Amino acid sequence: MDEKIAEKIEALPKVELHRHLEGCVTAEMLLEIAREHDLKLPTTDLEELRSYVQVQGKATDLKAFLNKFYWLGKAFPDLATVERISYEVVRECARDNIRYVELRFSPTFMTMEKHHQWGDLILHLLKGARRAEDEFDIAAGFIVGVSRTHSLKSAMRAVAVAAEYAGLGIVGLDLVGDEAEYPPEMFASVFRTARDSGLNLTVHAGEEGEVSNVRVAIEQLGADRIGHGIQVVNDPGLMDFVREKKVPLEIALTSNVQTRVVPSLAEHPVRALSDFGIRISLNTDDPAISATSLTREYLLAMEAFGYTLEDIKGFILDALEQAFVEEYRKNRLRARLREELSRVV
Ligand SMILES: [Zn+2]
Repeated sequence: MDEKIAEKIEALPKVELHRHLEGCVTAEMLLEIAREHDLKLPTTDLEELRSYVQVQGKATDLKAFLNKFYWLGKAFPDLATVERISYEVVRECARDNIRYVELRFSPTFMTMEKHHQWGDLILHLLKGARRAEDEFDIAAGFIVGVSRTHSLKSAMRAVAVAAEYAGLGIVGLDLVGDEAEYPPEMFASVFRTARDSGLNLTVHAGEEGEVSNVRVAIEQLGADRIGHGIQVVNDPGLMDFVREKKVPLEIALTSNVQTRVVPSLAEHPVRALSDFGIRISLNTDDPAISATSLTREYLLAMEAFGYTLEDIKGFILDALEQAFVEEYRKNRLRARLREELSRVV
């Protein structure tokens, strides 16, 4: 790929919808936090630490990929650190010229080591993000993740706290974690409650699990968007259904290769899905774990699937339409994006 195109892609104003805050914590950040708070890590050597928190090559499977989160759970020893991480993560997004980002986080995961109140956790996440928004050219919203592996009671708590802070920076709810053992139907009533309280919904489904999970996520959980959802390519009836319903799939190329839900990048179904007329967005998922950026994901999409600069611009504009941001902010962002995108030719 020639350098000029890489520069152009970097310069593009971007929109990202599927990015886990915890998966944005780099080995550098973790090491610094561990030093300041006297936390025990498996090593104090930065390069060695990377092998614990970053995928090198491919993980053996999705579970091995998720294991990279283990040490990242140590990164939130107090609320000041939560705020600082939020600030730094949004700042890094701004440096990749992301103009609007939705960061998702799991309150159960972030409070596993230290039992912060979830409301306090959210307030500090929002504070850090607002500070970055003031300093850099970016807007950020947060999606509360319901962890599949925790109790239904904790899932309901997540809905309640998301609803409480909706409008203050929380823009939606997500279902995360082991899709195979905890299929979406287990959370149908939880998501019904969430829908009734007006929350926007996205659900990790059809990543490695049964393709039918995507249908259940849409029909029973009321998902507005699907995290990954790439397995639908194996079910023509479901392809029709997803296209008709206009439910967008949040695609993350590098992540899908690293978790081995696709055998190789070339075999990723993104092109088949988008050519069929299914709405997609391009995302990083866990940029620190995967050592990627949104610029890099756009470039990979162009290189591997022949998308043009105009195609990428189209994905960016449609990602904004799919975003959970309030309508008046969306209108402002749309006008800006259009103007900025037209300058990159
Ligand atoms: Zn994800």
